[in-house]
Amino acid sequence: ARYDIEAFKKRIDGVKIEENPALVRQKSRDFFWYSPTLKRQLDAVTADIVVSPASEQQVLQVLAAAHDHAIPVTPRGTGTGNYGQAMPLSGGILLDLSQFNAVREIGHGRVVAEPGTVIAALDKETRSHSRQEIRLHPSTYHTASIGGFIAGGSGGVGSIRWGGLRDTGNIIRLKVATMEASPRILEFTGDDIHKVSHAYGTNGIITEVEMPLTPAHDWVDVIVGFDDLRAATQFANDLGEQDGLLIKELGLVAAPIAHDHFKRHRKFIAREQHVVLIMVADFQTAPLMGFIKRYRGAQVLFRNDQLPAEDLKGLPPVFELSWNHTTLRALRDDPSITYLQVLYPFPNQIELVQRIHERFGEEVPAHLEFVKFDGKVTCFGLPLVRFSSEERLEEIMAIHEEMGAPIFNPHRYTLEEGGMKQTDETQLAFKREADPQGLLNPGKMVAWEDPDYDFKSGKNFLFKGLAAQG
Ligand code: FAD
Repeated sequence: ARYDIEAFKKRIDGVKIEENPALVRQKSRDFFWYSPTLKRQLDAVTADIVVSPASEQQVLQVLAAAHDHAIPVTPRGTGTGNYGQAMPLSGGILLDLSQFNAVREIGHGRVVAEPGTVIAALDKETRSHSRQEIRLHPSTYHTASIGGFIAGGSGGVGSIRWGGLRDTGNIIRLKVATMEASPRILEFTGDDIHKVSHAYGTNGIITEVEMPLTPAHDWVDVIVGFDDLRAATQFANDLGEQDGLLIKELGLVAAPIAHDHFKRHRKFIAREQHVVLIMVADFQTAPLMGFIKRYRGAQVLFRNDQLPAEDLKGLPPVFELSWNHTTLRALRDDPSITYLQVLYPFPNQIELVQRIHERFGEEVPAHLEFVKFDGKVTCFGLPLVRFSSEERLEEIMAIHEEMGAPIFNPHRYTLEEGGMKQTDETQLAFKREADPQGLLNPGKMVAWEDPDYDFKSGKNFLFKGLAAQG
């Protein structure tokens, strides 16, 4: 064995472990298979052991023992990430945080929780406690952990009103455990939060989160159809700019994706219809309907507040048709489909969406998610791609960038290559302090593994630990 797991186990008496290779392999995976590239690269990745601490004290016990035996530790919430973020490229310990999952305190406008709390469970408690809800959540609301969302996610349902997780104020406070001989617990507020938010657990283990809450509402799902993509995009953008209208989700899916892949909603949607997906607060449906009437060609296809209960049976909520659930539904039906992550920058987003649509046609069906980005409404895209080869995929991404639409590459497992192709100096500096031996989630931060790596070389970073796994 590469690591002295037996000696490590003796040090963590009382902490739940799993060593059955099939179960360890299962917990070593996430939704990396969305990408044909990552599927090829990461399929063989597995940890040596899964360790499931249920308290901060147990997390510290595991980290100290792992540190002494120089065993890598890869944290995992519930493993719904899409880029192999929670996959242990060097093997070692998979630190499963899903059992460390209590809601600790609910106040006016805030909640304190342990990192493994599933977002839907958190929301349920804040709703029943004082009719408050979390501002934003990924479309994996029912399965994702709050710690995994902060360490690996970016935004989602609610981002049309609140922006993304990185936006000031959307995380109040984090507690973080370091990877040292005597692990410390640090507390971060303000801009210090960005040392560890969206760092894939490469430089600390989040042991407590404090998140802002907002008054809870009953949300109504509405789907509006259009025959013309440009008209649909203009409508959605205008709707996003209605400051008085309380909406929580605003997405757009180009034809024929909704009809072809939203099986349970298919009867409401014609194949040639582009659809706008909306979640609106229940007391705001009349103003929304008034707004829709202003748009020629806009057709309300679906409202879940006006259907008898038996017609709603088995229908997923609209947010499970959006964000990466759109992708999931399409690639479950057709495994040759994959996707991209694109920003259409303000103020040219509508024009850019149209030009890119005209350029690629059926090969890259549009899927837009409208968000507030630095106070401006614009759209982020998760377009589908009818995959032919990795070379063509790279070419499609290069063309997007040439046309002025930056890509956040979902076919890479490193922080930098998936993001802005540069090192986050704050995260790197904190890693030097909190994980001097480089044991946390190895291989995910290029700047740590190869400080001289040239992102302009056009090559993909390949972590050496991956070869050892094969
Ligand atoms: P995991 O996948 O377990 O972990 C994510 C990352 O965080 C990993 O790098 C892991 O090492 C690290 N990590 C986990 N817990 C900790 C901790 N306590 N301390 C330090 N590091 C930690 N994402 C969005 O942002 N928005 C969306 O709308 C969205 N929609 C999705 C839809 C589908 C169908 C799928 C499959 C994925 C989607 N995602 C989305 C991605 C993912 O579901 C979310 O980001 C989710 O919040 C991740 O939570 P998790 O518990 O599964 O994290």
